Amino acid sequence: MTAQKAADVTVWQIKQQAEKAATDAAIPQFWITDWLLYVIDKPALFLITDDNYQLSDSETERFNAGMTKMQQGTPLAYLTGTQAFWSLDFTVNEHTLIPRPDTEVLVETVLDWIKSQPFSTTPTLKSMRLLDLGTGSGCIAISLAHELKLADTLKQVSWQVVAVDFSLEALKIAQHNAVSNAVEVTFVHSSWYDELPTQDEQLFDVIVSNPPYIDEADEHLAGLLAEPISALSAPNHGLADIEHIVYYAPQYLKVGGLLAIEHGYDQGQAVRQLFADNHFDNIRTIKDFGGNDRMTLGQFNKH
Ligand code: GLN
Repeated sequence: MTAQKAADVTVWQIKQQAEKAATDAAIPQFWITDWLLYVIDKPALFLITDDNYQLSDSETERFNAGMTKMQQGTPLAYLTGTQAFWSLDFTVNEHTLIPRPDTEVLVETVLDWIKSQPFSTTPTLKSMRLLDLGTGSGCIAISLAHELKLADTLKQVSWQVVAVDFSLEALKIAQHNAVSNAVEVTFVHSSWYDELPTQDEQLFDVIVSNPPYIDEADEHLAGLLAEPISALSAPNHGLADIEHIVYYAPQYLKVGGLLAIEHGYDQGQAVRQLFADNHFDNIRTIKDFGGNDRMTLGQFNKH
């Protein structure tokens, strides 16, 4: 699927050739346009206004090399090293899961919950703590930190955002992303809760996580092999890490605190049951953009 560069082949024609070839390799069409624009370093409109532009030899070479990599299974985000999520840009590499649009539903739901709480509008308050478990690129923690910094209604509340990951390589990327997005996040090298304190004053108001949840036998995994498997798949039909997170959450949450977890489209009922079995109430499952169950939230209630 190489795009040949004859003297009279324009950027528009190269795009069309590559798109045709990509159909056979099941590469999303918009990856081709985005990759082409990335290589020639131009905005999308350029393809309309300058459709006669001819790529230089090095641009053609780079474009073709990327096409070959995508054909072999490398996602676009690993070629460009970046992925848009929420309103922000995140650096990603093979040590981090690529942020998915559906995870924005998790960010939005957590924000809505925070804004609906009395502490968001009571001027006398105090500092709050939010924990992101398995932060990867940091996209959830950083998007939330960004919004919590901006939100007018929350001005009286100062939030400390803590994010953990057991991968030091992922933490490096997450730290970079916090700096590039101008937010403060405390990063901790930890497997789930292991390195976190349980003292009263260190308990969290919110715990959020997008853990690995794909069943190890799920054939969908075959299409995701470029990404870290430890961020995608878990034993026990994909539920092992979610079970761990829900089971120990009561030790790290304030009473009334929120737990919000992303999960698979067919795990809603199992996750709601886990919440119910571990002292949570106000349990709700929220659907993703495709109309599938995608996350469950609940409030820790001691009884
Ligand atoms: N939702 C992602 C997918 O199905 C997986 C993310 C995850 O395992 N946390 O591609």
